[in-house]
Amino acid sequence: EQRFFFRDTWAEVDLDRIQNNLTEISAHLSKDVEIIAVVKANAYGHGDFQVAEVALKAGASMLAVAFMDEALALREKGITAPILVLGASRPGDVNIAAEAGIILTVFQKEWLKHAQKILKKDAALFLHLKIDTGMGRLGIRTEGELKAMERLFEEDPRLQLHGIYTHFATADELDDTYFNRQLSLFKDMLSIMNHQPPVVHTSNSAAALMHPAARFNAVRIGIVMYGLAPSVKIAPELPVVLQEAFTLHSRIVHVKKLEKGDKVSYGATYEAPEKIWVGTLPIGYADGWIRRLQGQEVLVDGKRSPIIGRICMDQCMVRLPYEVPVGTVATLIGSQEHESISINEIACKLETINYEVPCIITARVPRLYM
Ligand code: PLP
Repeated sequence: EQRFFFRDTWAEVDLDRIQNNLTEISAHLSKDVEIIAVVKANAYGHGDFQVAEVALKAGASMLAVAFMDEALALREKGITAPILVLGASRPGDVNIAAEAGIILTVFQKEWLKHAQKILKKDAALFLHLKIDTGMGRLGIRTEGELKAMERLFEEDPRLQLHGIYTHFATADELDDTYFNRQLSLFKDMLSIMNHQPPVVHTSNSAAALMHPAARFNAVRIGIVMYGLAPSVKIAPELPVVLQEAFTLHSRIVHVKKLEKGDKVSYGATYEAPEKIWVGTLPIGYADGWIRRLQGQEVLVDGKRSPIIGRICMDQCMVRLPYEVPVGTVATLIGSQEHESISINEIACKLETINYEVPCIITARVPRLYM
């Protein structure tokens, strides 16, 4: 559902590109590998419901989110596909998860016992067991823990061990030494189980595309679905052509000429070096366009135009190439004519990774779906 909005700043999410990216990715995987589309954090800022719908249409069989809240929000919006919660949930909430058909991640014996105590008599709780093979975040680390958990599953039919997984720490790096160590630890754990659960998965985007031996029967695809490479290092090696789905735009709401020596924004730190044209954009740090982006260029009339002076909470100013009319579109991420500003350019300016960029564009910025 597209809502009205009354401000001249918006993000555009190209769902066709997300669908094309997924088609490319699945063509690269073998038919027996299921795609779990990772739509946590509002689908990396792209819109959880819209991305979930298009991902399921493009062949994903399951969705993954970080928290139960995100899974329940998708249920409320009408998504009926299986949803896996990757992060920690509270054992006290298992009946809510079971009723909503949400799959939780488990990695503590005590958690499972607590869940068992309060789970309704006729309930079925679907769980994926997380193994920590070297990420050091969530997961059981020993064969003893695995055996103890397996016993709890075997004695209680309400607890359905539906999947088992791990997460790689270095799948997006060129050196695969640590990756291989994690993979072999995971295989060791699998080999001691009495019964392997139906869904076995280890791979994020980088592993799914770069390490076929780690695909098992499902892969968890996030960043590449959005058209972004998992890291700068492996970007040139990726076997698929991806298209960025997220762009960011604003309209110039005020235009003025400054004389040499005139100042701009808080602290009056920017001084016009000569006569210049300046435009005001209604986007600021409360939209996620944070103060560190001072100096970053935006596109106006196909020309790169730098942000001058400090970025304010709701607005910022750009030096225009020449006088342009109020209402002219400024593209902060995306293309105009022959110029383009990628998410990676913004990540580089912020000294961070591309994942972070669409995530930090706040909910105040409306998302329009193309
Ligand atoms: N699996 C887990 C456990 C994750 O935390 C994430 C995201 O961080 C993913 C899969 C998806 O990773 P990517 O976006 O690199 O595909």
